[in-house]
Amino acid sequence: MSINTKYIFVTGGVTSSLGKGIIAASLAKLLQARGFTVTIQKLDPYINIDPGTLNPYEHGECYVTEDGAETDLDLGHYERFLNVATSQANNVTTGRIYQSVIEKERKGEFLGKTVQVIPHITDEIKSRIKLLGKTGQYQFVITEIGGTVGDIESLPYIEAVRQLKWELGDNCTVIHLTLLPYLATSGELKTKPTQHSVKLLLEYGVQPDILVCRSEYPINKDIRRKIALFCNVSPDAVIEALDAATIYEVPILMEKEDLDKIVLKKLNVAMPPELKLDKWRNFLDKLEHPTREVTIGLIGKYVELKESYKSIAEAFIHAGAVNDCKVKIEWIHSDELTEDNIKDTFKNLQGVLVAPGFGNRGIDGKIIAINYARTNNIPFLGICLGMQCAVIEFARNVLGLKDAHSREMSPATTNPVIDLLEAQKNISHMGGTMRLGSYPCHIEEGTLAYSVYGTADINERHRHRYEFNPEYTKDFINAGMVISGINPDAGLAEIIEIPTHPFFIGVQFHPEYKSTVENPHPLFVSFVKASLK
Ligand code: GLN
Repeated sequence: MSINTKYIFVTGGVTSSLGKGIIAASLAKLLQARGFTVTIQKLDPYINIDPGTLNPYEHGECYVTEDGAETDLDLGHYERFLNVATSQANNVTTGRIYQSVIEKERKGEFLGKTVQVIPHITDEIKSRIKLLGKTGQYQFVITEIGGTVGDIESLPYIEAVRQLKWELGDNCTVIHLTLLPYLATSGELKTKPTQHSVKLLLEYGVQPDILVCRSEYPINKDIRRKIALFCNVSPDAVIEALDAATIYEVPILMEKEDLDKIVLKKLNVAMPPELKLDKWRNFLDKLEHPTREVTIGLIGKYVELKESYKSIAEAFIHAGAVNDCKVKIEWIHSDELTEDNIKDTFKNLQGVLVAPGFGNRGIDGKIIAINYARTNNIPFLGICLGMQCAVIEFARNVLGLKDAHSREMSPATTNPVIDLLEAQKNISHMGGTMRLGSYPCHIEEGTLAYSVYGTADINERHRHRYEFNPEYTKDFINAGMVISGINPDAGLAEIIEIPTHPFFIGVQFHPEYKSTVENPHPLFVSFVKASLK
């Protein structure tokens, strides 16, 4: 079946961090709620091939898709809102665009020609945009252009949008997200930055069809008319995007502003009368009216930048709503935890999560935190490095292997309870070479993991190079640790737990990537439940 895919572009002006990803995801949610199939794509203007090699301080969390792409954290929002998996094709960087153009040049695909930004780079961008449409799976492809209009880096992307607008005609629309700053001294919302940013877009040949204006205060009719007049859009296409208490409210705010209806009108699509948002509204209602509260410590080394643990924080929001409870996260710096301050730091916590990570910094604090949670019966969830640290802690303090460590932190340890994966031993390139994406895991019946998932066969997403060293399996089992989840093909330990503890579980994979509004992740749901007890 061939469908006439419609393309929606979301650009940003005035400043960065206006939330293009959330606006794109909210529009997608509304279109989905009207019965359409939608996907969202992010084009990132930096030269890294993917954000996998970027430090979280630079770029926040690296989100991992089912097919093992290391991507921008906005893809996490897309999945959490739509409950539909994204893939490698949903995140494209300038690095990747250039890489494929240069590869083609080397193969001789442009023989005789000078390879240039226009048309070769822009053609590659356009083909990446149309790739999702060509799958025949989606009626709408929303493409978010990273960066701010006017950045040198994003120029080829804006040029590709200009060309596509021309090629696609009615099948394409452009939404520009801007900011109306409020000047307290004059008590006014100012429209000039928006006017200038639209002028800049016009200079590049792109006339936006819809303006979404972030604002701290409601935008009255006069302001809408003024913006419309200066920017060649109709007044009903000037949309107000007020600051929201939670990102999950934004689809509702956009619905009130008729964003979906205006988009459908611009794209000449007949409007289905029904908008099915019941599940979303139920979730929001629970989120906004919790009957209880629980405080969970998140131990990590990037906690000053909460974007680094975005998916974990969102998974707690989903799991909290199911449990009618507000999950308060106490962000705790693993660098700062010591034997002396642990008791005091943990005194208000009902649960402890030790976060994923890389490298030596903060490891000691993580091990101290796990020891405290284990010996004081505090519910514990360890994710990836957090699971590995739980193994190290157990080896040191229960098995008595004082120098037990991960080879990642201590290549010379005589007890590498966490060791490099066999498949990683000959790898020298750092980019995109970890064990990435979805792998199956078989859960043993009668374990905590089994009661959490309610099934024996699951698939979870991964991002690691090291693993539980199988040479130590017997010692751990004899001392009371259970390996409750195993990769059926490689035999690799995926889940560990301690049955004598009320809730102590470590997972080699990243459950946080798969938690969505409609499908809160069972591990987070059970962990919150255990912490409430
Ligand atoms: N650094 C560890 C590894 O590579 C853990 C990775 C993670 O927490 N994502 O195995």
